[in-house]
Amino acid sequence: MKDLQAALDHRREQGLYRKRRILSSAAGAEVKLNENGTRCFCSNDYLGLANHPEIAQAAISAIEKYGVGSGAAHLICGHHQLHHQLEEELADFLGQERALLFSTGYMANIGVITALTDKHDTVYEDKLNHASLIDAGRYSDAELVRYPHADMENLASRLKNSSAQRKIIVTDGVFSMDGDVAPLKEITQLAKQHRAWTMVDDAHGIGVIGEQGKGSPSHLGLTPSDIDIHMGTLGKAFGVSGAFVAAREMIIETLIQEARTYVYTTAMPPALAAAALTSLSIIKKEDWRRAQLKERIHQFRKGATQLGLELLPSETAIQPIILGDAQKALQWSEALMNKGIWLSAIRPPTVPKGTARLRVTLSASHSEQQVDALLSALEGLCA
Ligand SMILES: *Cc1c(COP(=O)(O)O)cnc(C)c1O
Repeated sequence: MKDLQAALDHRREQGLYRKRRILSSAAGAEVKLNENGTRCFCSNDYLGLANHPEIAQAAISAIEKYGVGSGAAHLICGHHQLHHQLEEELADFLGQERALLFSTGYMANIGVITALTDKHDTVYEDKLNHASLIDAGRYSDAELVRYPHADMENLASRLKNSSAQRKIIVTDGVFSMDGDVAPLKEITQLAKQHRAWTMVDDAHGIGVIGEQGKGSPSHLGLTPSDIDIHMGTLGKAFGVSGAFVAAREMIIETLIQEARTYVYTTAMPPALAAAALTSLSIIKKEDWRRAQLKERIHQFRKGATQLGLELLPSETAIQPIILGDAQKALQWSEALMNKGIWLSAIRPPTVPKGTARLRVTLSASHSEQQVDALLSALEGLCA
């Protein structure tokens, strides 16, 4: 029997105990925690859309017209025209034949990998893939192979020696804890060579990088046909909630028939689809948000490097400061909180042991002054 209390105590001793903080304002660059104003550098609201008035209004208008609940799963009677329109616009945006909405990214990943494979197949995953992809590989009947982070030689040899019927190479587009972009050119070449499919989880790429925010394949100069399955979430750059999978007809139809996390769950509220439609139009046309984000990334990297902090080679909005020890990450995070800066400590098992970090995420909604304030608070800790 699992000793729950001992496990909790052990966690606490290791500096791995997790706690929630209670927000009493909208998400954004400045938030309220227990009525205290705090600068937030840990949300995934990369474009500053989570509290955008037009997007909020789209949801309000849809609620006034259609109510809150969808009433049922998509295959029963919950599939609303707003869901359908969003799917069509997302497919069009990403240059794929079709798209399918899921209630969360976690569910999308579980649904895709379990529905598309059986025991004759192999799923190849980067070791640093998001937990939802790793879980999906575990839950599926396929063999799960995890290759060292971005190690294309290792992946090539694993593919070469495989006798699997279907092979799917699955990777984060932008790695969620390190911020680097996956070597998709090499991955798609290997996929062609070994007749494997490719799946890109672009939770941190869509909206943020690539032409018009089309994500990591576009950022690297690939075309939509290079990627078999392009997954994205609506809760990060989109500022809403939910997720989608874009792919060709046969794949989407298989998911509709067989993905259990699609079939056996209530459809997201239609109002969220309305909000996401408005987000999508802003993402496509407002390049200035991506330009502003780039400036903040540059400002942060320059300042943090001058302070002698250990950064990773990331050009994206995800800029981890590696501290190593979990307790140290926790202490820094608490000291920053006392200075009105909210940066969460990311510890094992979310990241490998000995690489505990503060995960800084920048947003188009941060001002130059706010990033300066973050840097001077960090300077105080370095001293
Ligand atoms: C956040 C995230 C998910 C999960 O998406 P949710 O909609 O939050 O469930 C999946 N993959 C990656 C890479 C993520 O960062």
